[in-house]
Amino acid sequence: MIPGSFEYHRPSSVKEAVGLLAKLGEDARAVAGGHSLIPMMKLRLAAPTNLVDLGGIADLKGIRAEGGDVVIGAMTTQHELIGAKLIGDKLPILIETAELIADPQVRYVGTVGGNVANGDPGNDMPAVMMCLGATYHVTGKSGERKIAAREFYQGAYFTALEPGEIVTAIRIPVPPAGHGYAYEKLKRKVGDYATAAAAVILAMKGGKAESCSIGLTNVAETPLWAEEASKALTGSSLDDAAVKKAVAAAEKITSPASDRRGTPQYRTRMAGVMLTRALARAKQRAGA
Ligand SMILES: Cc1cc2nc3c(=O)[nH]c(=O)nc-3n(C[C@H](O)[C@H](O)[C@H](O)COP(=O)(O)OP(=O)(O)OC[C@H]3O[C@@H](n4cnc5c(N)ncnc54)[C@H](O)[C@@H]3O)c2cc1C
Repeated sequence: MIPGSFEYHRPSSVKEAVGLLAKLGEDARAVAGGHSLIPMMKLRLAAPTNLVDLGGIADLKGIRAEGGDVVIGAMTTQHELIGAKLIGDKLPILIETAELIADPQVRYVGTVGGNVANGDPGNDMPAVMMCLGATYHVTGKSGERKIAAREFYQGAYFTALEPGEIVTAIRIPVPPAGHGYAYEKLKRKVGDYATAAAAVILAMKGGKAESCSIGLTNVAETPLWAEEASKALTGSSLDDAAVKKAVAAAEKITSPASDRRGTPQYRTRMAGVMLTRALARAKQRAGA
């Protein structure tokens, strides 16, 4: 359980970090909270020769409102997210989600940027970011670019990041005031990754869903944005028939692995159950 040897670097700016990653090549890795990367190094599933620690870069910290968006610095910890008033006021689903990640010890150091960049389908934030229509700000040696969360995840541990690029911030459009939200996660015990989980953001007007967006965690090689299921609910009153149709559409796009959390059939069905519960809670919160 001891990682292989590596050189440690602690840059103090994004420019210095991406310069180091470019110079050191593909065997170098960024490290944020280290709560996914270090366990993988201990198991020798990752063996970077150089670690570039993002922890000394002040520009990667902080949460701010900008226009109609909230921008979260990549090095914001899950613990800081939970305590942020702006997040509580504008994006409460992020607090509900962060509180279901691991335990306080992990949340004190695990970062939002690390959670979304890691590419593990078991991470909770990616499906929520897809549900919210978030955009990732990314910087590499050839400059900055923006990638929609819905286009970022390409396979297990395989994302749209080019070698040497880092996520610097996450930009999230604030859903309408009074929106409904819920993140429902089935796990075997406290601190476990999801057997299946569902995120819902919902805006209701006159008893009908004006808009609805659904994300699913750990029921495929990547987090999923359930576009057809979301469409099935828009314009409906979230009556039983509409919910059943949406659940069927969501279950159809899943392809979970068989592991100690259950068979593919069980995990697909649990995705449907989590979605049904998340829709009911989101509808209640939307005041419908
Ligand atoms: C016991 C335990 C239980 C856990 N349970 C859960 C859970 O239920 N749900 C959940 O979502 N997570 C869970 N985690 C993972 C935890 O949330 C991690 O903190 C998170 O996945 C990664 O964040 P990090 O800051 O620790 O990243 P690190 O471990 O430092 O990095 C992870 C990966 O992302 C890359 N990376 C990190 N930051 C950036 C960046 N800014 N730009 C580009 N690449 C970057 C690294 O190079 C590495 O490949 C658990 C971890 C532990 C130890």
